[in-house]
Amino acid sequence: MEDAGCAQFYTAGGIQDKSTFVKSLETEARRVDLERATGSSHNAAPRNVGSLEGLAAAYLEKELPFFTKRAMAQLRLAGDRFCRISWEGLTHKFSGTDACQVCNLESPDTLTHLITECAVFTAQRSRLLGRATLSVEQLAVVLQLEEPTGLLKFLRTALRLRLCAMSEGAIF
Ligand SMILES: [Zn+2]
Repeated sequence: MEDAGCAQFYTAGGIQDKSTFVKSLETEARRVDLERATGSSHNAAPRNVGSLEGLAAAYLEKELPFFTKRAMAQLRLAGDRFCRISWEGLTHKFSGTDACQVCNLESPDTLTHLITECAVFTAQRSRLLGRATLSVEQLAVVLQLEEPTGLLKFLRTALRLRLCAMSEGAIF
């Protein structure tokens, strides 16, 4: 209440100006949310700076198929410690405590590793995302693209190949 500057609207007789009080509380709550998201170590996905004004992330406002929006939401919310991506009827699990079984280079098995640097997907990354490897900053840019077709094509290929690599030797 104090941080939101709400105390000035509250008197011994109760709240005098309810709409100003609510607006002030709303603005403060958004500011705190954004501050916490910016300082979060959950993942390196871009933060929605428009949230201070109550705006949704751009990809949610754009006319895109539901599948695309769902995929983008999953990618942007994926954490580096653990995440699960549902894609074309299959569930792909990532755990940062395990090593990537695709490249076998002892890199953590995270979605960030798969998209930005896994050596097995260098050719696909170059062709569809324009670079052989991506930095964390470049990943943030890719996750904010208004036209994410290249990213989704890359993931379709990479997730399928990863699943094949991980099921090698598995008994069906
Ligand atoms: Zn790898």
